Amino acid sequence: MHRSLGSTILAFAIGLATVAGAAPPSKKAPSPPSRSIGAPNKGRLENGVHVEASPYVRILGTYANSDVRYGTRELVDAIERAAREVHRRYPDARLGVGQLSKKGGGDIERHHSHESGRDADLAFYLIDGLGRPVELDSFHAIRESGAAVGDPSVRFDDGRNWMLIAALATDPHAHVTHIFVATHLRTRLLAYGAKIGAAPLVRQRVADLLMQPRHALPHDDHFHVRVACPANSPECIEMPVLVQARRARTTTKPPKASASSDPVDVAKTAPTPPPPRKVTRARATGRIRPEPIPLATSAADDAPPYP
Ligand SMILES: [Zn+2]
Repeated sequence: MHRSLGSTILAFAIGLATVAGAAPPSKKAPSPPSRSIGAPNKGRLENGVHVEASPYVRILGTYANSDVRYGTRELVDAIERAAREVHRRYPDARLGVGQLSKKGGGDIERHHSHESGRDADLAFYLIDGLGRPVELDSFHAIRESGAAVGDPSVRFDDGRNWMLIAALATDPHAHVTHIFVATHLRTRLLAYGAKIGAAPLVRQRVADLLMQPRHALPHDDHFHVRVACPANSPECIEMPVLVQARRARTTTKPPKASASSDPVDVAKTAPTPPPPRKVTRARATGRIRPEPIPLATSAADDAPPYP
């Protein structure tokens, strides 16, 4: 269909007026930057960004009402970018999001950290025997075989989970510092990365980030992701437990030559098994499992902060 010259000019003029108009539709002031204050286990969050459901992000039913889904801009954007990346490759994939922080941060039930907007609990991508996504309303523990505890027809999806973790690990803006997960799932993911020929640098970065926390539940039912202090948050504290522990240690004995200030290194070079725990596990019951509960902190306790 041809338009007359007059109507074309008119449309062009209207377009120009819209572009350069005095009252563009969105005059909303940009939201103030989010700020993380204090430590993950004793802190707060200013101007936190809310995680929203989308075609590639779903909110786990168990946590839908509590609305503990605020984080720093860096954390929330990294989660969304990673979920979108997985969705692009697997169009039926939606990342299950559990809890981050409360709107203003601070103390939160069942978590030792999650106070300053830098922590997020993410569900594993699960599939059935035909490779179709299985979306549960709560986290579900996974055995070494990759099968879900209590339901072997549901499995940990190596492909989707690898892609999620690789995207988080290589995120260009957020600096992910820890991804807590059980050792058997760490091993599984790294084996998958090697099998598909992922770039050695990516595999190394993933290997550095994935760790089973010491003195805490092993995280065999979800990933716990933590990002570094954002650049705009001078009052953010990166690693309080480690700093305290090292300070206490240097007053009693000289530090080991191999000790590193990198919490990942500390975790790797400290193979001492954790003491027995008294936390009851609610495997495969659909109940909310408690977040790790810290044992008494001591000078020797140089593990990364409890998730
Ligand atoms: Zn957590």
